[in-house]
Amino acid sequence: MSFETLGLAPFLLRALAEQGYETPTPIQEQAIPLALAGRDLMAGAQTGTGKTAAFGLPLLQHLGTHPQAVTRGPRRPRALVLTPTRELATQVHESLRDYSKYLRIPSATIYGGVGMGPQLDTLRRGVDLVIACPGRLIDHLERRSVDLSGIEVLVLDEADRMLDMGFLPSIKRILAKLPKQNRQTLLFSATFDDNIKLLAREFMHDPLEIQATPKNTVHENITHRVHPVDSARKRDLLLHLLAEDSREQTLVFAKTKHGSDKLALFLEKAGIQTAAIHGNKSQSQRLRALRDFKAGKVTVLVATDIAARGIDIDQLPKVINFDLPMVAEDYVHRIGRTGRNGSTGQAVSLVSQEDAKLLRAIVRLLDRDLEIKDVPGFVPQTPIRWGNSAPGRADLPGGERPPRRHDRRPHGEAPRRAHAGPRQHGAPRPGGSGNGRRAGGGGAGGQRSSQPRRAD
Ligand code: AMP
Repeated sequence: MSFETLGLAPFLLRALAEQGYETPTPIQEQAIPLALAGRDLMAGAQTGTGKTAAFGLPLLQHLGTHPQAVTRGPRRPRALVLTPTRELATQVHESLRDYSKYLRIPSATIYGGVGMGPQLDTLRRGVDLVIACPGRLIDHLERRSVDLSGIEVLVLDEADRMLDMGFLPSIKRILAKLPKQNRQTLLFSATFDDNIKLLAREFMHDPLEIQATPKNTVHENITHRVHPVDSARKRDLLLHLLAEDSREQTLVFAKTKHGSDKLALFLEKAGIQTAAIHGNKSQSQRLRALRDFKAGKVTVLVATDIAARGIDIDQLPKVINFDLPMVAEDYVHRIGRTGRNGSTGQAVSLVSQEDAKLLRAIVRLLDRDLEIKDVPGFVPQTPIRWGNSAPGRADLPGGERPPRRHDRRPHGEAPRRAHAGPRQHGAPRPGGSGNGRRAGGGGAGGQRSSQPRRAD
């Protein structure tokens, strides 16, 4: 799937190519054609899924290809994006400015905590696009410094967060100022509780529902392996694993931009051709790193989740999670880059005690066991507690205890498995209140004591 096939106009395709976007993310693949066809959408997507482009590109295409209706008086905004925070408003504005590089779309960001003056000036000059936080937009409505009666496209970005922050009354007041007819509404939200559904029913026209990750499945031809390790020794273990096959192209995931830089430097110093891509790298640096990796000039590419979005590399044999993703769904995205087109792939995760909780979430999401394998010379000094208990609570009666030594097979023997345990509906999720204490070796059946288990 390419951006061309989604029906986007050349002026957007050109800007996307310059941004280094090669393939649409799942939410973009689903949302863009439907939004271009004028449908209202309720999209389940959180930050990092590429949601801004999913609503931004159709919105910009609409503004760029549908001339404004001729009206008397000053120019009125034609598109409105509502966001919960000023940071998100700025971020959305920047992204839309990048995508609309080859269009002339006057725009304004409207948020509180700053002076009214510059916002009033911009609005007075006239804009097509407004990106706003609800509170300050209400202030402008009250002063009549903004006229929303010409809005053709409305986006509610992170709708669940806006409601959590108590913006529902403000949103309703704003919606009441918009035209009811001939308006397209795109609602993006990580979750859909009853309040959001009610809002949608009231203000949207026959919305279609789409999801960023329709299926949390990974290809069957991928082997998943978990190596327990102390966090201080992760770098050495990574080096050890990479050295096992120094010619194999490997994508390594790190949690932070700084962490990826440090890791890349460490690997370079150890003689491994490495490049890093993350949000602080310029577009040309990112493109060059990708090109070199694809061409085999560098064997290891260290990436953060966000920077890796849209990376499309055929036949990538191995993905190593140096850090586990904070969001379990990202494991699926990461691993989706190997084992494509029927080839086999390996997903390797280096897991320290701090990562145990994240691993449990992944196991639960995938609904499958993962193989746990000690690497000789890198076995953690204190065995990892895979269960739900907080550190220091391992000895509580019924709490998780450290995996017992007798559970650990000698190196090189048949591997153990990280598994989710039996599904028990109604039981609390890990981290929540309640028992959450079934994982681990407290009690009979202790031969599973070193393995993460499902708690829900
Ligand atoms: P968002 O979820 O909209 O906040 O986007 C997350 C990050 O992914 C941003 O840095 C975007 O620039 C980037 N991004 C979005 N779509 C793509 C894509 N198709 N290819 C590459 N990067 C993307």
